[in-house]
Amino acid sequence: MTTQFDAAHLIGDKWLPASDGATFETRDPHDGSLLGTVPKGTAADGEAAITAARSAFDDGPWSTMAPKERARILHAVADNLDAHREELAQLETRDGGKTITQSLHAEIPRVAHNLRFFADYVSMAANEAYPDGDLLSYVLYPPAGVVSAISPWNAPLMLATWKIAPALAFGNTVVLKPAPQTPLTAHRFAELALEAGLPPGVLNVVHGFGGEAVAGPLTSDRRVDRITFTGSSATGVKILQSAALNHTPVSAEMGGKSANIIFEDADLDVAVPMSLRAIFGGNGQVCLSGSRLLVQNSIREEFVARFAEEAAKLTVGDPKDPDTFMGPLIEQRHLDKVHGYVELAQSEGGKVLTGGERLADASHSAGFYYPPTVITGLTNESRTAREEIFGPVETVLGFDTEEQALAITNDSPYGLAGMLFTQNLDRAHRMAARWKAGTVWINTFFERDLRLPFGGEGISGLGREGGQYSREFFTEPRAVTIRL
Ligand code: NAD
Repeated sequence: MTTQFDAAHLIGDKWLPASDGATFETRDPHDGSLLGTVPKGTAADGEAAITAARSAFDDGPWSTMAPKERARILHAVADNLDAHREELAQLETRDGGKTITQSLHAEIPRVAHNLRFFADYVSMAANEAYPDGDLLSYVLYPPAGVVSAISPWNAPLMLATWKIAPALAFGNTVVLKPAPQTPLTAHRFAELALEAGLPPGVLNVVHGFGGEAVAGPLTSDRRVDRITFTGSSATGVKILQSAALNHTPVSAEMGGKSANIIFEDADLDVAVPMSLRAIFGGNGQVCLSGSRLLVQNSIREEFVARFAEEAAKLTVGDPKDPDTFMGPLIEQRHLDKVHGYVELAQSEGGKVLTGGERLADASHSAGFYYPPTVITGLTNESRTAREEIFGPVETVLGFDTEEQALAITNDSPYGLAGMLFTQNLDRAHRMAARWKAGTVWINTFFERDLRLPFGGEGISGLGREGGQYSREFFTEPRAVTIRL
């Protein structure tokens, strides 16, 4: 990208700066180059966006439009995204450091898929009707109203549209606040959506930070009917506290510390590459990542040697290069946090098998590069094994029996996801039934069917989204009973 990309708030039909004119910069984590400036939104900006979303909801036509017509517009938006797939992928990769392979072939296509899936879901979903003698009862699903959508930086547009798509499809209007680290694709998405026919005011985008700034009203204003948040568990608690004052329902998708269990009968030709992807894919910054690797002791030495050797071979570098497996971390602060955990691991008795130091050679020193890092010698009681690092750092633990594996897995404050590799499917089903997590993968990783519930237990989440679960959250289900 040669030209600077300056973002603006989208409030109603207007592209606006922050109410006090303040801006912040967004930079390429690969080399620190300036990508653009962004409005540093104020609480007044958040309120203005809610006002715009409120009038668009109350005055229509979006909220009262036939679902088929909304679906037609959302399909047109998806088509426009497809037409700009390469541009959006490049922008996502520049802004957040995600590899171009992932942006182009996974995340940006998923953005359009999110829209198409929920556009169609509204008319495809089964509806409930209960005839009972001379009574007939049925359920209506009117839209909830104004939705605040607050999203993180690690899969920016994919996660933003995981919220926007169902919210809009069910007839709500939205105020989106993207993460300040990666604001650019949200801006471009909004431009493309308007161009494709989304009525003004239906989607509003405000940029900036949490707390008292622009995100404040998004979680505390009485005119907001739903809050959908993806981000850290610590921020989630603040949002839940703020929302509780108005009884505003919150769907929160938060952090993870998922177990990846390798049994001695696993097909290692599948388990090794999948496990590498499960922790080092997405530059190690994936909520679902298998960051606690539990290996059965009978194969632990062999597996870990192979895993660490393959990890050391992964290409870490410019995310714009299609051969790169891992790009940079998002920012200096995050790199310091990740490295801090590696130092902590060593002080807790851990041994670093590979990685463990920032990459500082000529091709990496301008960016926030950290290598795939594998640590052994810790217990599940260590802070390294209990806290979310959100970086390319794998903690290896051993176990002897299925019961032990399950006990270690479930001994975590998090409960987002997990995966296991075994050829014994009886065992796999037994484990899945007792696993404390929102998603369990067996002999695979990261597959997502959007009809399934997505979310977490413990401090990983509150509520579920996806298919009918999104309908329940983004509508206000109403029971109607008529005497015939
Ligand atoms: P974060 O919690 O720092 O920020 C997320 C969003 O919340 C940002 O837009 C931020 O500006 C906003 N925010 C911050 N403070 C706020 C406040 N007080 N009120 C309202 N909004 C506020 O998270 P992050 O660093 O951007 O993202 C990484 C985290 O997200 C990790 O913990 C990761 O596991 C989690 N995550 C979870 C999922 C999931 O689906 N469960 C997916 C991706 C990321």
